[in-house]
Amino acid sequence: MRDFSFVQARSRADAVALAHLPDTMVVAGGTEILNWMRIGIVAPDRVIDITRIQGMEGVEPLPNGGVRIGALTKLNDAAQHPLIRDGYPVFSEAILKSASAQIRNLATIGGNPLQRVRCPYFRADEPTPCNKRTPGSGCAALHGSNEKHAIFGWTNDCVAVHPADPPVALAALDAVYVTDDGGAGRRIPAGSFNVLPGQDPSAHSVLRRGEIITAIEIGPHAPKSAYLKIRERESYEYATVSAAVALDLEGDVIRRARIALGSVAMRPWRLAETERRIAGHALGSAAIAAAVDAGFAEARPLSSNAYKIKLARNAVLRTIELAARA
Ligand SMILES: Cc1cc2nc3c(=O)[nH]c(=O)nc-3n(C[C@H](O)[C@H](O)[C@H](O)COP(=O)(O)OP(=O)(O)OC[C@H]3O[C@@H](n4cnc5c(N)ncnc54)[C@H](O)[C@@H]3O)c2cc1C
Ligand code: SF4
Repeated sequence: MRDFSFVQARSRADAVALAHLPDTMVVAGGTEILNWMRIGIVAPDRVIDITRIQGMEGVEPLPNGGVRIGALTKLNDAAQHPLIRDGYPVFSEAILKSASAQIRNLATIGGNPLQRVRCPYFRADEPTPCNKRTPGSGCAALHGSNEKHAIFGWTNDCVAVHPADPPVALAALDAVYVTDDGGAGRRIPAGSFNVLPGQDPSAHSVLRRGEIITAIEIGPHAPKSAYLKIRERESYEYATVSAAVALDLEGDVIRRARIALGSVAMRPWRLAETERRIAGHALGSAAIAAAVDAGFAEARPLSSNAYKIKLARNAVLRTIELAARA
């Protein structure tokens, strides 16, 4: 690991000013960035610790019936807060199914969507063609080991998926990331915070240099919601696929469904066509399955991951049932 200077930010303004400097990264819980520095994925000159900044931690109600979660809130604290646990089961469950209890005690909700892909070529010790790690070098996974990779939104330049759980729930809930860049800041919809491999396949998110996440805001509560994570072992494992569903019901009729899939693309994948077709149909009816199938019309498997289409489709159907019973 290369030598670097470590600076404690005294305030938010201090952190943003320092974060604008070249070769500078901020650190919160440190559960991701320290691994990247060890493996050599990043090698900043300067690391800014933002954990002592006041006013960026905790969960509070908003006047519109929603909640605001400070970016420095630990994953476990967010998941166990009554406003989250009772008002947004989908978000609480997505957090509690992430990583391990020890990691969730350190990791922050603001650092979570900024984790990088788990693609083995991206994290390889030896130089490997990987446009995310070395722009322009190619994509070893396109015709290589791609069992866990994307079925939506990929290009020949990158077929990785974003591995995080909480952002999938946040996308289904139409949450926004609130940022500070030293100016007006931005409100970035959770569903478009992480980016598909369009013009720049090396990008993970739309966050700019010198911009930090200060909070996450979610609209009015969504008690009829659930998160299903399918993985190779029951704990301490990234999702093979995951589904987040939030329902508005009238009796057993779905008035509105918000559905996002995780680990199927480089960002949480909203099933817009399914959401459009499902409204007005009774739970358990054949129309529900047909609406879900319609959401997968644009899925494109790679050489070794066609199984993920069926897995994700069944996960959505199951999660709709779980959300209805929540
Ligand atoms: C073994 C292991 C298993 C895991 N399993 C899962 C899992 O199953 N599901 C899941 O979702 N996650 C999983 N994770 C990821 C974990 O949730 C993230 O590492 C964690 O949430 C990152 O938060 P942090 O505060 O530690 O970020 P850090 O490591 O401090 O930072 C990560 C990145 O975010 C940036 N950053 C941090 N905070 C801010 C901010 N407020 N504004 C701007 N930039 C910021 C940093 O500059 C850095 O680029 C796992 C991690 C490990 C190590
Ligand atoms: S899928 Fe993306 S991260 Fe993996 S090798 Fe290809 S470019 Fe790199």
